[in-house]
Amino acid sequence: MHMPIPVFTHPACLAHDTGPGHAERPQRLGAVVEALRDGVDGLDWREAPRATRGQLLRVHSAALLEAVLETQPAARVQLDPDTVLSPASAEAALRAAGAGIAAVDCVLGGGEAVAFCAVRPPGHHATRGDAMGFCLFNSIAVAAAHALDGHGLARVAVVDFDVHHGNGTQAIFEQDARVQYLSSHQMPLYPDSGHPDERGVGNIFNVALPPGTGSRRFREAWEDTLLPSLQAFEPQLVLVSAGFDAHWRDPLAQLQLDAVDFAWLTGALLAIARRHAQGRLVSMLEGGYDLQALRECSVAHVSALRGH
Ligand SMILES: [Zn+2]
Repeated sequence: MHMPIPVFTHPACLAHDTGPGHAERPQRLGAVVEALRDGVDGLDWREAPRATRGQLLRVHSAALLEAVLETQPAARVQLDPDTVLSPASAEAALRAAGAGIAAVDCVLGGGEAVAFCAVRPPGHHATRGDAMGFCLFNSIAVAAAHALDGHGLARVAVVDFDVHHGNGTQAIFEQDARVQYLSSHQMPLYPDSGHPDERGVGNIFNVALPPGTGSRRFREAWEDTLLPSLQAFEPQLVLVSAGFDAHWRDPLAQLQLDAVDFAWLTGALLAIARRHAQGRLVSMLEGGYDLQALRECSVAHVSALRGH
């Protein structure tokens, strides 16, 4: 009835060690993997490969690759006040970006249409030249560039419902009309970008939501503004930055969403992917810092990707 959904992950993503008390901790990914194994049937678990240097250089500077891959710290070092590089971080970052590459290859290669990447560190704050905001490489941007330059697509959408604005993804693609970037996020909140006036070359769509925003206003923002823009773009592939930190339980932000809201949006995105993109959609885990919310939301999201 339903096709199995490939889920790309790698144990190396658990070994990226951000240190005691850090919100972006290995237990996040452990909770997501365990919840999906227990809670969603028909998943096809696959090992994420490493992204190659050439794949990363499509969106990142050689200096950032050197900082992440060649520092080889003996202990944790801070790349910025939030962002940590541990001895195992380079391998985790390569596998996280490689998951997106493999998922894009899978859905564009005529296999399953939909794939999920259960990875960390997250990626959407990383810019061309800088790791920041818990992010080392911008995995969703690497995946988008692979769909464009590796597979020759002309229109790729990146949909970002993480509660933080994906400043890195926006900055990487704001001059590239082949990519449409759409984000809903809390404002004010880190990283303080994502104002609706930021339009790129007409390919950037931001909706800023005040603290306290709940289900009704969140869904209106997508129904009235973002989903019609996505529909009009007629993407050939939909990529999703799936952060679950807009959940009411999340300690880093003040939106009031519930797991059903993520399932609702996932269904709407899948419907647009089916209309324009032969159903092709790749989703990657971004933020989400409450373990119970991560469990519920990842199950709701991936179940919706299966068409439930
Ligand atoms: Zn976030």
